[in-house]
This record gives sequence, structure tokens and C-alpha cells, in this order.
Amino acid sequence: EKLNPNEPEFLQAVKEVFDSLVPVLVKNPIYMKQAVLEKIVEPERMISFIVPWVDSYDNTRVNRGFRVQFNSAIGPYKGGLRFHPSVNASIIKFLGFQQIFKNSLTKQPIGAGSGGSDFDPKGKSDLEIMRFCKSFMAELSRHIGPYKDVPAGDIGVGEKEIGYLFNEYKKIRGTYEATVLSVKAVGYGGSFGRKKATGYGIVYFVEEMLKDKRLSFNKSTVIVSGSGNVAIYAMEKAIGLGAKVVACSDSTGYIYDSNGVNLETIKQLKERDNKSISDYVNEHPDALFIEGCSGIWSIPCDIALPCATHNEINRNVASLLIANEVKAIGEGANMPSNLDAINLFLRNNVLFAPFKATNAGGVSVSALEMAQKSKRLIWTKEEVDSKLQEIMKDIYQTSMKASQKYGAPGNLVVGANIAGFVRVADAMITHKVIN
Ligand code: NDP
Repeated sequence: EKLNPNEPEFLQAVKEVFDSLVPVLVKNPIYMKQAVLEKIVEPERMISFIVPWVDSYDNTRVNRGFRVQFNSAIGPYKGGLRFHPSVNASIIKFLGFQQIFKNSLTKQPIGAGSGGSDFDPKGKSDLEIMRFCKSFMAELSRHIGPYKDVPAGDIGVGEKEIGYLFNEYKKIRGTYEATVLSVKAVGYGGSFGRKKATGYGIVYFVEEMLKDKRLSFNKSTVIVSGSGNVAIYAMEKAIGLGAKVVACSDSTGYIYDSNGVNLETIKQLKERDNKSISDYVNEHPDALFIEGCSGIWSIPCDIALPCATHNEINRNVASLLIANEVKAIGEGANMPSNLDAINLFLRNNVLFAPFKATNAGGVSVSALEMAQKSKRLIWTKEEVDSKLQEIMKDIYQTSMKASQKYGAPGNLVVGANIAGFVRVADAMITHKVIN
């Protein structure tokens, strides 16, 4: 805390992991002797840079860009780029830090990083977004590469932005390095299934967890916060497994549709028309739109999938969900629940699927994209989806086994953190990462 006084999100992410690691540290004193915690908590490199660009009215605008290269013990740095006005060093460090454990859990050869900018894509024309992306890549290109650092998308960065970034990288380098950015569109080097992978992966993981308790998405009532990339494909898969999704949200508020949300309308509004979710009620007059995001959790549900952003679920929201007899929480966003909320869910025996495990499907399929492109292969949708399902099952089983081995059976927060940590820590010890 003394070293990072103005980084609350980063400190929160570190505390959540370190609290879980106590049993593994007690059993394996080598980790303390080799100062693994001190090393793992410090980014290998933190880059901050200016991003000047010119808007449509010929005004010069200035944003701040970041890339944190957190840990490369098991592979090149890998993690998303976020464009959102809230982006600062604390957010980027929390995202980069959690990525260490998530990427390790996938068992793919990928290290951890994160990056982004306080640029707000909302209300900007495509031309302005493209100009911003070109300027951002002018600096970022010095720091990334297929064997160095492979960025992907996150909030505010989807296929369109990745397309602008990739094209600029290609021009600067003069080579077609198809594995330097993931989440590319399928037509020029993307993988089938990447767009849907995070959302589908969340539901595959939660279904495994439910199965162990003889529960299922089938006939369950589900609430999903957000209506971006992760939320839309989590809803699609949940509905595919027979669930009824009755509410979802965006940054303006939420909709409640007791008949079950119409996903085609949500896709039209959010993926194609770039509109507020409030417009949903124009087509579905029986549904309600309510301003403000947090009210969504007052609606009773069996399964809650927070898929919007960090710290959506605090102690009060958790109490409300528990009072309404929620059976399971599947975290979709990064760090959507704070520590008080997590502890409350666990104390009340609510099944809890933590984000490092559940949303690892996105980065897993990014790693599969890297594998395909480096071999110049194209796997079918079905092949990618079946590999994704295997990976999510494996992450569930690995996390469950670690929770049992280290004295917290069924606690997937502890299990995922420990399993993710051990692989990276062992690699760091083997490397004697004093380099
Ligand atoms: P998007 O930008 O596609 O969507 C974000 C969605 O959340 C939008 O609908 C946005 O609303 C909404 N939103 C933002 N803030 C709030 C809020 N306070 N309350 C309710 N809704 C809100 O991002 P993604 O779907 O890609 O990312 C969502 C989360 O998942 C993030 O935490 C991200 O780090 C995490 N994640 C994403 C992965 C990916 O593959 N994309 C991989 C792993 C994790 P609006 O439309 O109004 O802006």
C-alpha cells in the first residue's frame, strides 16, 4: 500500500490473490525464500505515453496511453487493451496482474499484460477512432510483437478498433505478423469463435459448477449485467442451454423483460446501431427500462452473471441477491465483485465462479488464434468451440482440485488463484527470475 498509494483497484486485486495463497505458501516455503510474491506483484515493465490526435473539427486532442508488461515467466505478455475514460495506471495494473493467474490457468504458453487509454470512443466518428488508433499504435508498436507482447480487445476495443490498430502496425513494421494482435476479424487473420469465446466460456464454466450440484442453466432465471461483447454471448449461450434471461444493462440503465430478453434486438441496438439499451422498450413495449445500473440486481434470479465492469457487486448488492435466493454467481467481467461481496456469497453457500477462471475462455481462444496463425492453419468454428469447452472444463477441474488440496474444498476463488499461481511461481523459480 505504501508503494502504490493511489492504486485502489490494483491493491484490491492483489489482496484478493494474496489472501488465497496463504495455504500454498505455508506448504511451500521456497516461494517465500525466493521472494516470488515480491516479484510477481511488480510489473516487469510499465509504459505510459502521450497519444495526440486530431478530431473532425481540426482540434488537437491529447490522451494518455498505457501498456503494462506484467509477467513473462510462461510466455509472451498477453492481455487486453481498454479504451474508456476511467482508464488510469491503477486499472491497467489490476488488469495486468489478474491476467497472470488467468492466463496460467488456461495452460497455454502465455504471460500477462494489459493496456489501454483514457480515450472515450463514445460519440466519436469512425474516422476519429481510426486517427486515435493510428497515433496509439505509433508508440505501442515499439513494445509489442508475436514473441514479445500480444494485445487483444477489452472494454471499448472490439474487432473494428483491432482492425485499425493491426493495419497501422503492419504499415509501421512492413510485415504481416498475424499473431501480433488477437480478436481480429475472421477475414484477415482472426480465429472463428473468438468474438463469442469469453461469453460462451463463462457459461460453459458455470454449467460445470452447476452440474456438480445437480443444477443447470435449463429453466433457470438469469440476469446479466452489461450488453457488450461478453454479456451478449453469455446471454446467447445461456439461452441456448434453456435459461430465461430476464434483464441486462448498459451504462445508462437496465431493461427488465419478464418474457425473456430478445437477444436479436439487443444485438441490433448495441452491436450495430450503437444505441442506448433504453430503446429496447420501443420494440418491446411490455418490457421496462429503468435508469441507473445497480438496480438490476434487485430482480430475483437463480443465476447472476455480472458481465459489465469491475466492482459492480458490493456487500449491499450481494445481500440483496442472497435475500432473493440466488443459487449461483458467474463472474463475467474482470473483478465485478468486491471482497466483502465474495465473502458474503461464500459464507451463505452461494455457488461462486470467480472471473479469473470463468472469463479465461477469451484469452484461451486468443492463444488458439496465435497457434493457428503461426502454423498458417484455419480451424473450423466447431473445432474451436470444442477446444474451448475442453479448456473451460479443465479450468474448472483444476481449480476444484486445488481448492481441495489446499484445505478449502469447493472454494473456487482459492482454487483458481492457487492453481494459477503455482504454474507461474514454479516457472519463476526455475528461471530464477532475477534477470
Ligand atoms: P464492451 O465494451 O463490449 O461492453 C461493456 C458493456 O458494459 C457495455 O454494454 C457498457 O455499456 C456496459 N457498462 C459499462 N459500465 C457499466 C456499468 N457501470 N453498469 C452497467 N453496464 C456498464 O466490453 P466487454 O464486454 O469486452 O468487457 C466487459 C467486461 O469483461 C470487462 O470487465 C472486461 O475487462 C471483461 N473481459 C472481457 C473480455 C473480452 O474478450 N472482451 C475477456 C475477459 C474479460 P455502454 O454500452 O453504455 O458503454
